[in-house]
Amino acid sequence: MKSPILDYLNELLDTCAPDASAKNADYIPELARVSPDIFAIAFATIDGKIYAAGDDRFEFTIQSISKPFIYAMAIEQRGLDEVMERIGVEPSGEAFNELSLEAGSKRPLNPMINAGAITAHSLIGEPDDSKETRVARVLKGLSAFAGHDLRIDTEVAESEWSAAHRNMAIGHMLRSYDILPEDPDVIVRGYVEQCAVVVTTRDLAIMATTLAGGGLHPVTGEQVVSQRTARHVMSVMLSCGMYDAAGDWLTAVGIPAKSGVGGGILGALPGQVGLATFSPPLDPHGTSARGVDVFERLSEDMDMHLMDVP
Ligand code: GLU
Repeated sequence: MKSPILDYLNELLDTCAPDASAKNADYIPELARVSPDIFAIAFATIDGKIYAAGDDRFEFTIQSISKPFIYAMAIEQRGLDEVMERIGVEPSGEAFNELSLEAGSKRPLNPMINAGAITAHSLIGEPDDSKETRVARVLKGLSAFAGHDLRIDTEVAESEWSAAHRNMAIGHMLRSYDILPEDPDVIVRGYVEQCAVVVTTRDLAIMATTLAGGGLHPVTGEQVVSQRTARHVMSVMLSCGMYDAAGDWLTAVGIPAKSGVGGGILGALPGQVGLATFSPPLDPHGTSARGVDVFERLSEDMDMHLMDVP
């Protein structure tokens, strides 16, 4: 179907050129094998219209884009106060996999870096739950945001697990301060499976729209999380979603967002749209280089920056 919006999205795909210095993530061996040329853009409005261009049905692993959703589930299950006792909301200014905790409280600084996300994964279950119980909850929760059943790419999960030394170090650090009451092996293994949930760029756009619409799914009509939780999660995405590039992103793009080392980026513009891009080669912050270009263009061309005065 021809439409000016699709023409515009196709023009973005043509003009946001590959960056020769950007490379696929290779610390998870399976991610290095994905074609670097795959490229897609999708957005969905809160009344359920979807626009997508490029390889928008290509399947890839969600990676860190799962973090805001699992954090939202933890808040819904435990209440914000209990979650805040274990995970802060301050930008870390550090890489996603830094071994660091907040001075004094010894909480992870925020739920978007791995230390906070591993803690959020623990909080969606009870201390004696098995890995399988938590992972089943992850799948159910992420599927509700997507509006259909999602699955795990077990090869990517195994590949990440075979090299998960840094995340295990984070797990043991959290255990030593009793932020995790569980065996870190169970939690980190579950977190790795959470990161290997398979999505398309279209799915991510719809998931983003569910946040942007205050927790209400634009197609299924399910209130997946409360408006209050969606507001809180988008606030944390705005200040912490892009790791140590959060300030650059906030000034240049101005949309609450989350990146994943698989190559996806998701953005949620409150009350308006959910956006998503996919292109595997990453910049030095672990964010899709072409995805950043697309978001900068979208924000500029469509006045999507939160600080834009209408
Ligand atoms: N599974 C990845 C890790 O924990 C996710 C990182 C990311 O997507 O930024 O290392």
